[in-house]
Amino acid sequence: MQWNLFKAHKGSGYCAFCRSRKIFYSKKSLGVFDIIILSGLAITIMYLALQSFDPRVVIFFVLALISAETMIHFRWRLSLVCQQCGFDPILYKRAPEKAALKVKARLDLRKENEEALFSAPLNIPTRKIKKEASLGGKLSRHV
Ligand SMILES: [Zn+2]
Repeated sequence: MQWNLFKAHKGSGYCAFCRSRKIFYSKKSLGVFDIIILSGLAITIMYLALQSFDPRVVIFFVLALISAETMIHFRWRLSLVCQQCGFDPILYKRAPEKAALKVKARLDLRKENEEALFSAPLNIPTRKIKKEASLGGKLSRHV
């Protein structure tokens, strides 16, 4: 049996825009083991603070659940953004224009940074513009 209860739940992949390798957190929300740990933590805090069993432990438990879920979700959300180009896949699904502006701002910052000169170059996709002469040539053949 492999003991992976305290595993960091990290995944690896590639950025959808610049194709650089990135590591992200794959855990998006709380699991059953986390809830068990948080209930034990709430009971421990209750006994430390009040020295007896008190129904107010439910408040500690709910606050711990809310804060842990929020932190895990923020950690997952922030790890999705590419560290190289700033591409955010979730923002791209919601508003592609805003995602493009973020990437452009990040790349402009990278241009001004002298340390970026020594880092590996980004594999940014380029848009190929067809020449009008070649289009005109195809059109004239079919007409
Ligand atoms: Zn990227």
